[in-house]
Amino acid sequence: MTAAKLFDLAGKVALVTGASSGLGARFAEVLAENGAAVALLARRTDRLAAVKARIEAAGGRAVAIGGDVLERGAMLRAFDTAEKTFGTVDILVNNAGVVHAGRAVELTEEEWRRVVGTDLDAVFFWSQEAARRLIAAGKGGAIVNISSVLGYGVAKGVAAYAVAKAGVIQLTKALGLELAGKGIRVNAIAPGWIVTDLNRDYLASEKGEAIKREIPLGRFGEERDLDGVLLLLASDAGRFMTGATVVVDGGQLVAVRG
Ligand code: NAD
Repeated sequence: MTAAKLFDLAGKVALVTGASSGLGARFAEVLAENGAAVALLARRTDRLAAVKARIEAAGGRAVAIGGDVLERGAMLRAFDTAEKTFGTVDILVNNAGVVHAGRAVELTEEEWRRVVGTDLDAVFFWSQEAARRLIAAGKGGAIVNISSVLGYGVAKGVAAYAVAKAGVIQLTKALGLELAGKGIRVNAIAPGWIVTDLNRDYLASEKGEAIKREIPLGRFGEERDLDGVLLLLASDAGRFMTGATVVVDGGQLVAVRG
C-alpha cells in the first residue's frame, strides 16, 4: 500500500467550518488536494470565494456556503448544499473557533456564551447533524474536531476557551464511543501554537519569543504542520482510530520546566 493510496480521499465529501482563513482554509485545501470534494462554510463570503478559487485552480472541487456555525438554519443549509452538490458529507472538520482575551473576573456573560457556544456547543450540534445524515444514508464517516493544548493545560485569561477546548476532547470520546457501531469515527487534533492571522502579531512580540523558548522543537507551528494528522484522521489510514485526540505542539505539553 503506497502512502498516497492510504491517505486517498477520492470519492469523499468533506465539510470544513471556518474555512475562510487560517487552519480551516488550509484543511480544506489539503482535503481537496487529496481527492475530496469540499464544502466550505464561513461568515466571510468574499474570503471564502478566494479559497474556493484556489482549490479549483489546483484541480479540486469546492462549494462555498456563507453562514454562522451558531445558526441552525445555516448548519442545515450547509449540509443540504454539500449533499446536493457532491453527496452525503463523509468527513466533517469542526474547525471554526474564537478566542477571547481577559481574565475570568472581567469576562461578560455574553463573551463566555459566544466562546463556549462557538468552540464547544457548535462542535456538538454539527457532529450530531453529520452523524444523523450518515446514519440515514447507511454510511460510515469521519469527524475531526479541533481542540487545543489549552484543552489540557490552562493559561491566564483564556478560561472560556480552555473549558470549551477541554470539552471538545471529552465530546470526541463520547461521540467516538456512541458512533463506533455506525462506522463513524470521531477524533480530534490538539494543536499547540500554529502561526495564523489569529495570533501572528502576538507571536511576533516579545511575549511570543518567550513562548517559543518553551517549545522543545524550538519554533512555532506552521499551518502545514497539521496536514499529516488531518489526513490520518480523515482517511482510511486512521481506520482503527476513534475517540482519540492527537497533540501536535512541538513538544510543548510534555515539557516540564526544570
Ligand atoms: P482563525 O481565526 O484564522 O480561524 C478561525 C475561523 O473560524 C475563522 O475563519 C473564523 O471566521 C471562523 N469562525 C469563528 N466563529 C465562527 C462562526 N460563528 N461561524 C462561522 N465561522 C466562524 O484561527 P485559526 O488559528 O485558523 O483557528 C482555527 C481553529 O484552530 C480554531 O478552532 C482554533 O481554536 C484552533 N486552534 C488554533 C491554534 C493556533 O495556534 N492557531 C491552536 C490551537 C487551536
